[in-house]
Amino acid sequence: MKERALIRSALLAWYDRQARDLAWRVGPADRRAGTRSDPYRVWLSEVMLQQTTVPHATPYFLSFTARWPTVSDLAAVDDGELMAAWAGLGYYARARNLLACARAVAGQHGGVFPDTEEGLRALPGVGAYTAAAVAAIAFDRPANVVDGNVERVMSRLFAVETPLPDAKPELKALAGELVTDDRPGDWAQALMDLGATVCKPKAPLCDRCPLSAWCAAFQGGAPETYPRKTKKADRPRRHGVAYVLTRGGAVALVRRPPRGLLGGMLGLPTSEWRATPFSDAEAVAAAPVAAAWRDLGAVEHVFTHFSLTLRVLAAESAPEDPGDFAWTPREGLGALPSVFLKAARAAERLI
Ligand code: SF4
Repeated sequence: MKERALIRSALLAWYDRQARDLAWRVGPADRRAGTRSDPYRVWLSEVMLQQTTVPHATPYFLSFTARWPTVSDLAAVDDGELMAAWAGLGYYARARNLLACARAVAGQHGGVFPDTEEGLRALPGVGAYTAAAVAAIAFDRPANVVDGNVERVMSRLFAVETPLPDAKPELKALAGELVTDDRPGDWAQALMDLGATVCKPKAPLCDRCPLSAWCAAFQGGAPETYPRKTKKADRPRRHGVAYVLTRGGAVALVRRPPRGLLGGMLGLPTSEWRATPFSDAEAVAAAPVAAAWRDLGAVEHVFTHFSLTLRVLAAESAPEDPGDFAWTPREGLGALPSVFLKAARAAERLI
C-alpha cells in the first residue's frame, strides 16, 4: 500500500512539473486554481485521439471547437458538413457516432453531459475507455482509465509476465489499485503523459522516469520486453482477390452467404479463398463482371484460424450496367468488416 502511495505522489509531482500543454487540457496549476475541464472538449479530444496522434488531432480540435463551441452547436450540424470537417481524421463511422452522441446529449440531456461513467457509457458511440476518461478528466471521478499506453506502463511497473491479450484484466486491476479519490483527473492524464512521452513502446526513457525506483521491469534490466505478448501461432495462409467496383460515388457490395466466415454481412465481391495465389489471368477471370480491372496490390489480414493475402482489383462500372450489387456510397463503407475496409482503403483511399 505504501509503495502505491509513493508511486502516486511521484507521478503526480512529475505531472505538476511536466504536464504536456494540450489544446483541450486544463493543466494541473489551473485545476488547482479551480478551473474545470469542459466535458465537451474532453469528450471531443478523446474521440479524435482514438484514431490519430496529438499533433494530427490538434488542428481538427481547434477548428471544431471554434466552429462549434458547445455540444449543442455540434448537434445542430448536418451530416454532410460534419463529414467534410472530419475528412482526414479517418473512420467516418466515428464521425457518425460523434454526431449521434452530440445529438443525444443536446436532445435528451439538455446539452449537459452525464457526470458519471455509467451515464456516459449509455451515450451512443461512447465505449468503456471514453466514458472512463471523460468521467475522470471532466468530472474528477475515480475512474480507471486504461488504454494500450496504460497497459504498457502497468506491465513494466509490475513486471507482469502474463502475455497480452490474456493479461488485460490483470493490468486493468493493477491500474485500478492506483486510482484514488485524490486528483483522479490529473492522475489519468499523468499516466497518459508518462506512456506517451517517457514509457514509450520500443525505447522507454527510464533515466527520465519518475517511477524508476519502483519499476520492476527497469530493475530487471529489459523493460522494453514488456508487455509480454503471445507468440503468433503459425496460421495457414490463404489467398483471394477482392474487387472494388465503383460507379460514380458508390461502391458495389454483395451480401455474403448466411453461413461461414463473415456470414450474412455486406462485403466487397471476392474470389474464393484458397491455398495458392491467383495469377493475373485467374484474378480477372474470377471477377464478378467483365471490366477494365486494375491491379492495386494486396492487403494482409489475419483471421483467427488463417492469414489472408487479398489482392485488390479495381474498376469503374459502366453506368448502364449496375449489376446485381448493393451500391453503397463511399462514406457508408466504414461499417464494413475490417478485411474489406482494408481492401477498399487500398483502392483510391475511398474512405
Ligand atoms: Fe517505463 Fe522505464 Fe519508467 Fe519503468 S522505469 S515505467 S519501464 S519508463
